[in-house]
Amino acid sequence: MHPDVQSLLAVQVDDLHVYELEDRLASLAPRLAALEKEHGKVQGQLDRARAGVEAEEHHHREALIKVETHRALVDRSQRAYESVTSPKEANAAITQLEQTKRMQDDSQREAAQFQGRVNEQRHQVADLEVALAAVESRQEETRAQLDTERQAIVAELEAAKAKRHAKANSVPRSMLTIYDKVRVRKRAVIVYSLRGPSCSSCDTAIPTQRRAAMAATGALEMCEGCGVLLYAGD
Ligand SMILES: [Zn+2]
Repeated sequence: MHPDVQSLLAVQVDDLHVYELEDRLASLAPRLAALEKEHGKVQGQLDRARAGVEAEEHHHREALIKVETHRALVDRSQRAYESVTSPKEANAAITQLEQTKRMQDDSQREAAQFQGRVNEQRHQVADLEVALAAVESRQEETRAQLDTERQAIVAELEAAKAKRHAKANSVPRSMLTIYDKVRVRKRAVIVYSLRGPSCSSCDTAIPTQRRAAMAATGALEMCEGCGVLLYAGD
């Protein structure tokens, strides 16, 4: 085997290792995404519940203002009723007083309803805070593991790439260029030896003349059948 081809095969071994590491690194992403999704679901529920508390508190404050307004109306009606001077005035005043008291009762009932909803929503927020804390503590170890795994793969990947680049220096530039072009497309084994007169990947026969040139110069030939790069074996 031509020494250039030997060097290229060594580079290919390193490239396959780099691909394997890159695939392992990529496989961490869906695992992290699953954790984010689980966390995001509870976080979203909590955010909505908190917004719900704020909305109900706002309604409650407005209801209390209405209660105060109606109480003032009741007081005024009460005073008007106490200062009447004729039976006709008394009838009108008592009607007015009863009406304002009904309004006051209604607004008090409404305020109590909003208070009830505020309490209910606050309970929900508290429950969801507990649930979120549980998710976070449950995920803590998994996230740490993922991070450790990621750091280890990144370190290994950097070392593998450095090794590959060092080896690539022994391969002639033109051969490496052709190899890289095919390699990035396939991300797999792409350099095959001839088996007898044929491609050892797909069995397409290679013309005698080309085979003779490959054996003499160590040049690579692209297989017309499957697109891999072929070299003359021993
Ligand atoms: Zn082939």
